[in-house]
Amino acid sequence: MEFTPVIGLEVHAQLKTLTKIFCGCSTAFGAPPNTHTCPVCLGMPGVLPVLNKKVVDYTIKMALATHCTVQPESRFARKNYFYPDLPKGYQISQYELPIATDGHLDIDIDGQALRIGITRIHMEEDAGKLIHDPDRPISRVDLNRTGVPLMEIVSEPDIRSPGAAGEYLRQLRTILRYLGISDGNMEEGSFRCDANVSIMPAGATAFGTRTEVKNLNSFKHVEKAIYYEIARQKEIFLDGGQVVQETRLWQPDQGRTVSMRGKEDAHDYRYFPDPDLLPLEVDTDWIERMRSQMPELPNDRKTRYMTDYGLPSADARVLTGSRELADYFEDCLAQFTQPKTVANWIMGDLLGLLNARGLDIDHSPVTPESLAGLLKLLDTDVISGKIAKTVFEAMADTGKSAATIVEEKGLVQVSDTSAIDPIVDTVIAGHPDEVERYRGGQKKLMGFFVGQVMKETKGKANPKVVNKMLRKKLG
Ligand code: ADP
Ligand code: MG
Ligand code: ZN
Repeated sequence: MEFTPVIGLEVHAQLKTLTKIFCGCSTAFGAPPNTHTCPVCLGMPGVLPVLNKKVVDYTIKMALATHCTVQPESRFARKNYFYPDLPKGYQISQYELPIATDGHLDIDIDGQALRIGITRIHMEEDAGKLIHDPDRPISRVDLNRTGVPLMEIVSEPDIRSPGAAGEYLRQLRTILRYLGISDGNMEEGSFRCDANVSIMPAGATAFGTRTEVKNLNSFKHVEKAIYYEIARQKEIFLDGGQVVQETRLWQPDQGRTVSMRGKEDAHDYRYFPDPDLLPLEVDTDWIERMRSQMPELPNDRKTRYMTDYGLPSADARVLTGSRELADYFEDCLAQFTQPKTVANWIMGDLLGLLNARGLDIDHSPVTPESLAGLLKLLDTDVISGKIAKTVFEAMADTGKSAATIVEEKGLVQVSDTSAIDPIVDTVIAGHPDEVERYRGGQKKLMGFFVGQVMKETKGKANPKVVNKMLRKKLG
């Protein structure tokens, strides 16, 4: 029996503001516990929250990037629950009237475009952090994170496979990073995801009962956990059982999900509008101001690379994977105008180098200018393709320009026939057997002769010239 998985994702992105959402405390990570706190984020009686406008700016940008409608009026609400990391006994969030609704994100699955609906985006505050003592039966609480701004992005149940879920998340993260509003780091917790998963018999239209899976802290685990959850639900279905609506915890070490708690319904949280905060009004001026500050977004940039530069979609996708990488590509292209050559060098040699050294593009030891310089030398036959690889490595090690390295090491390609001629003669004279076989019809041996000449010249001879000379002399 065939089943169709149905997946909807709730994403929490920590926003990169300097201060918290309702007070002036710093959001900086790594400070000693409870040093970034004040009466507001500690939830002391009598204090009043003041909304940080930057949080609204950032959320509007994300809403525009995901084609949402920015609501002219939205509200903050109290979500009430008890937990030791929540000093007020409620979290300020948005509930009935979120700031943005009805958007979408287009993702690419095996060359096929898939539109994932975005139900809503809203703003809320983060909770504190419990630190459990490994030796004694006590827990401590650090409230530095309390009140750090979060943006929650809720998708429609439009996702149909674990891979598509991963792709949707990657795309969301890329947009957040392009906008410069979140680090989008899953391992560090600045980008968190809960996955809602259900299955239905193939062809059915009514969705099955969903479970919500938590504790997904890497892309790999999101996909694994969803995969596991689909298999678990199938088994229940085939055994004639019924999936229970509940919250489940992903256990990365065991590779399974376990029941955590029954699913709360909204009424369990006794939501109500926060009387301490005015309704939030966003006018067209505010929206347009945010729109004017937005960079070109990854999908648009990718399309432009395909239409303007004629790059294959796979290349365009890699190059636009981060704003910094795309900028690097364009800087290089401004000085060496062959897009496919630049793309190949960036995706091959450069990314390989950065990967091996654990560096990101911002810290590349080879600048776009130096790479363009190298490509010019290669393009004008000053150096051979083989030498270019050596020069590239030397550039990475020394930071010198390609021209300087070629000059210092005497790597200029030799195209002068009078310099190559004696070497060709020596190679021919030194390999009488091969010469005979070549003349007897084994034309494949040409590669061998070229290789010998290249070896003798330490890679500096122009292979095109060598080829021509050998052909003439071998007949
Ligand atoms: P809650 O807070 O109760 O989890 P939300 O509205 O915040 O509710 O999130 C619900 C999420 O569950 C959305 O991402 C939605 O797409 C998804 N979802 C709803 N119904 C199903 C279903 N039958 N199967 C899978 N996902 C679902
Ligand atoms: Mg939920
Ligand atoms: Zn504070």
